[in-house]
Amino acid sequence: MIPTMKQNYRVFLKSRPGINGVPVASNFALEKTVLPTSPVENEVQVQTLYLSVDPYMRCRMNEDSGVEYAKAWSLGGTITGGGIGVVCVSSCNEFKCGDIVMTAGLDWPWVNYHNFPGEILKVVTGVPKECLSMMLGLFGLTGLTGCLGVTEKGNIIPGMNQTIVVSGAAGACGSVAGQVAKIKGCGKLVGICGTETKCNFLTQELGFDAAICYRSQNVADKLSSICPNGVDMYFDNVGGEISDSVISCMNKNSCIILCGQISVYNEDKPYPPPLSEETESFVKKQRISRDRFLVLNYQNKFGETLEFLQASFKAGKLINKETTVHGLENAGIAFIDMMNGQNIGKQIVKVSELV
Ligand code: NDP
Repeated sequence: MIPTMKQNYRVFLKSRPGINGVPVASNFALEKTVLPTSPVENEVQVQTLYLSVDPYMRCRMNEDSGVEYAKAWSLGGTITGGGIGVVCVSSCNEFKCGDIVMTAGLDWPWVNYHNFPGEILKVVTGVPKECLSMMLGLFGLTGLTGCLGVTEKGNIIPGMNQTIVVSGAAGACGSVAGQVAKIKGCGKLVGICGTETKCNFLTQELGFDAAICYRSQNVADKLSSICPNGVDMYFDNVGGEISDSVISCMNKNSCIILCGQISVYNEDKPYPPPLSEETESFVKKQRISRDRFLVLNYQNKFGETLEFLQASFKAGKLINKETTVHGLENAGIAFIDMMNGQNIGKQIVKVSELV
């Protein structure tokens, strides 16, 4: 893992995959860069500890991101996203050396050291050193997404024995959504994911009642045998054929929590992509609700949701799972691995050790 001495590297966008292309590791490149100068008044020098790689970054690789909440990365420009770091030099009264800090936006640069204006940083308190990466996962945007998707757009009524299906279930948002659905009192919980190992993780470690591997099993056939009374709620992370199959098993007046559609992120389609004609008419006939869910629209609920997630984790009701890639130089690979399903739980990049 670099650097061993105080040196600065950055990861930048070397090429775009093309709007209909599959991203590859060589779209990213690493280069040595200068160390930031001493921070001027109201600036803080920070060393990056962890970075987050997320599916939404795929649209930032295009010339036009097409989304309002994140700008496209420029060619040759340093990659930015979610991150967390430690203050090493401070010229700002609100921060001192050793403080753990984050920004509120998706603007953390993929570098070892950076001078931030103090006004965009917030101090992270009360999180033990070994749990800091969780601020990018279970206690960060993906945990909030899994939880708020279920509580704001789902309709769980304890005791009603409702059946919930989660796609992308072994990933960062899906694993939280499923666990929260159980905590909130859903009946049968079924996960869909890409490998047998992930299926075992869901049923043996996370408390899912059943899991379907979409690569080796027929999702619609499997679902109808696991859920003879149909599906009441569907937490959709993936879209495409998997979602067509799930929707075909959904009950009258059931609901889809439209979280993401990763199966089409490498295609030039609007978001959310239109359903097939057959699925669309089934959705209408069954009066299934399918509202778009965007976690950033619920910032007023972040505080209380974070408290719930932290308390549930502390009480042993929520399990945290992360897949960690080491080294800033491997951040691009970590993104590609996540897009290809190599992660279980939240994909994290560990850039440096907190000493
Ligand atoms: P994950 O940790 O779930 O990682 C992505 C996973 O997607 C991979 O591990 C892979 O798992 C699965 N995947 C990749 N390609 C396909 C495909 N073609 N078909 C089916 N599954 C595929 O990522 P996140 O938890 O961060 O994100 C999950 C979803 O939530 C994404 O769609 C993302 O855009 C969305 N999201 C939405 C937010 C919102 O506010 N609405 C906020 C954050 C995320 P597998 O092995 O199972 O294929």
